[in-house]
Amino acid sequence: LRDVGEPVDETELAIEGALRPTSLAEFVGQHKVRGQLQLLLDAARIQQRSPDHILMSGPPGLGKTTLAMIVAHESGRPLRLSSGPAIQHAGDLAALLSSLTPGEVLFIDEVHRMARSAEEMLYLAMEDFRIDIMVGKGAGATSIPLDLAPFTLVGATTRSGLLPNPLRDRFGFTAHLEFYEPAELERVVERSAAMLGVDLPVSARAEIARRSRGTPRIANRLLRRVRDYAVVHGGGADAAAVAAALELYDVDAIGLDRLDRAVLDAIVHRFRGGPVGLSTLAVAVGEEAETIESVVEPYLVRIGFLGRTPRGRIATPEAYAHLGVAHADGALR
Ligand code: ATP
Repeated sequence: LRDVGEPVDETELAIEGALRPTSLAEFVGQHKVRGQLQLLLDAARIQQRSPDHILMSGPPGLGKTTLAMIVAHESGRPLRLSSGPAIQHAGDLAALLSSLTPGEVLFIDEVHRMARSAEEMLYLAMEDFRIDIMVGKGAGATSIPLDLAPFTLVGATTRSGLLPNPLRDRFGFTAHLEFYEPAELERVVERSAAMLGVDLPVSARAEIARRSRGTPRIANRLLRRVRDYAVVHGGGADAAAVAAALELYDVDAIGLDRLDRAVLDAIVHRFRGGPVGLSTLAVAVGEEAETIESVVEPYLVRIGFLGRTPRGRIATPEAYAHLGVAHADGALR
């Protein structure tokens, strides 16, 4: 999946890791989810058992991996990381599950992209901590039951609608992560700037927060670009440096990036404002439909620039106004 905030190299990945909060108290925003997780972890601790399985759903970069790490850290359990695309056969999952130590937290990112055969194995594993391993083929095939150590599965998905119901139902709790408010992103940026040793005036912090698409990962990434700019040009990481650095990286005044604008531009100019189907739109901008649907659209819908109708995607008058194009009713709003 393309991710607008995706770290581009190993150093960036290391910095992103270093900026992750390690406790619920340090985790900014998402009050509801934090409260729900706290209760879940407290109950498990009091009853001395593994916490229930948890599903995290929401667009990329909102903190799903970070929360999985916090669940493991706060409950004092080891964490194993895997991802749906890495589990292409039931055997991959059997090997993973049977190697877990008692109480381990297993994080599966993009859990909706796991192989179907593995999904079915996971149902039983989540419910009874047991799997059936098929041995042999045809008439001679037998299944051998294998007991597993109790574990907590934390699944993350950008597309919870793609999960089969039997799998979704086996998570004790689903955390829906929402885009962050600018004030929350300011706190994320403030914290990261302090950790990176960047002296950032309040005005610059607010400007980065406003232009981060409601996403902490993007806020951290923009902060690093602003820091780079300040290092190269001198003069500090002020609001002017923010504006100049973000212009260089094609991030506009409200935080939309090149692909966001390409999608809006295509709907407005090539499809007369829509409705246009997702796959046609994806071809028009040269991107995967899944990227458009799970990375680009959620934010455009959230800020009221894009509508999803049964007949396809439409651009709203607000999107026209942002692009500076007259709407069909003749008014430039
Ligand atoms: P993906 O699904 O693409 O893996 P994600 O939702 O798992 O994304 P994370 O990798 O957890 O996102 O978070 C991305 C970055 O944003 C991390 O560096 C983390 O430090 C930061 N971050 C996310 N949420 C918060 C938060 N609530 N407070 C502070 N920092 C945060």
